[in-house]
Amino acid sequence: MKLSTRIRSIVEGGSDGWEVWYRARDLRDAGHDITMLTLGDHDRLTPEVLIEAMAAAARSGHTGYKPMAGMAELRAAVAARVAARSGAACSPEEVIIVPGGQAGLFAALTAVLDQGETCLYFDPGYITYPGTIRAVGGLPLAVPARPENGFQPQRADLDVALDRAKGPVRALLINSPNNPTGAVYSRETIAMLADFAREHDLWLLSDEVYDGQVWEGEHLSPRFLPGMAERVLLINSLSKAQVMTGWRLGWVAGPAEAVARMTDLSISTTYGVPGFIQMAALAAVTRGGALEAELAATYHRRRDIGIRALAGSNAVRVSPPQGAMYLMLDIRATGMSGTDFALALLEAERIAVMPGESFGPSAAGHVRVALTVEDRRLEAALRKLGEFAARAAEAGGPLDARSR
Ligand code: PLP
Repeated sequence: MKLSTRIRSIVEGGSDGWEVWYRARDLRDAGHDITMLTLGDHDRLTPEVLIEAMAAAARSGHTGYKPMAGMAELRAAVAARVAARSGAACSPEEVIIVPGGQAGLFAALTAVLDQGETCLYFDPGYITYPGTIRAVGGLPLAVPARPENGFQPQRADLDVALDRAKGPVRALLINSPNNPTGAVYSRETIAMLADFAREHDLWLLSDEVYDGQVWEGEHLSPRFLPGMAERVLLINSLSKAQVMTGWRLGWVAGPAEAVARMTDLSISTTYGVPGFIQMAALAAVTRGGALEAELAATYHRRRDIGIRALAGSNAVRVSPPQGAMYLMLDIRATGMSGTDFALALLEAERIAVMPGESFGPSAAGHVRVALTVEDRRLEAALRKLGEFAARAAEAGGPLDARSR
């Protein structure tokens, strides 16, 4: 039976960018000791106090259907968090609770794009962006964010993209702190993006899932700029901030009318979020930022360990990230693509990293390292990676893992 064009278009060209990770997982399942530097999933568990809050909520009866936009207490607590971090007032009616940031991206894109309309996003960018835009019937259009500019978006590249767009452009999707580059957008960049959105009457979708993990500079949401709250849909979640990746709890903050429409979408998709998860989320949001600060300190320390471990390598260049939980490594000196390098490294050294190409063509010849293993193992893995790259560079191109 024929499946819809839309669902078949989500993964374009037969590749979803996760191939190296699938291979690493298969090797691990077959008993190999793999150093997994692929996923942005913490190497620690959700705090016990939140697990307790979830269990207590379930026992006390929060097991039935809940309001589609989220429980009133949680919407109020999230609205207060959004106001505090974005610097612009936010009411509970301007917040919808969704099952994770990814569901938030889907809801926000559904809210602003009609069939065949374009959403701009930056390349390199989070792996799911183009597929999610296609999933709602939109056209993804990648705008390069170049390594030579520290991966900060430039106005000239946005202007070029606008000229290339086929049909109406409705939205710009941004992400700071950025996955995969670790760039934290400067005040000038945020102001430039807001001006661009205003001038072209675009929705600005701001994915802020790493807002607590800033090591240099400060996190700025475009929502705080004059006149922007009415055109910003802010997407966030507790996955990264509170070590709750598997809990699937996030939100979208935006104009009340957009929130009401996204609530219609929840009725026809998720039917809300489990009450016991929302109660744990309430505990997480109201207990303050101590855990976030601790996580940020951990990733900051590991970033420095990574940079030190690779300092002597002439085949790997590190673009020092300012936030999030990753290192982008430029391995172009090896003559290999990011994908070939990642596959060969996995076979030879049992170290799994993500190819830069998974995040878009502007990250070709790079690999992304998630800082999600403990310090000493990370250091050893990055030293090996540096040596592996040096051998490949010396060999003048692709290194055959079996010939070592
Ligand atoms: N946005 C970015 C930039 C991410 O890196 C991720 C997850 O890695 C998500 C959104 C999705 O996060 P969630 O777990 O909240 O769905």
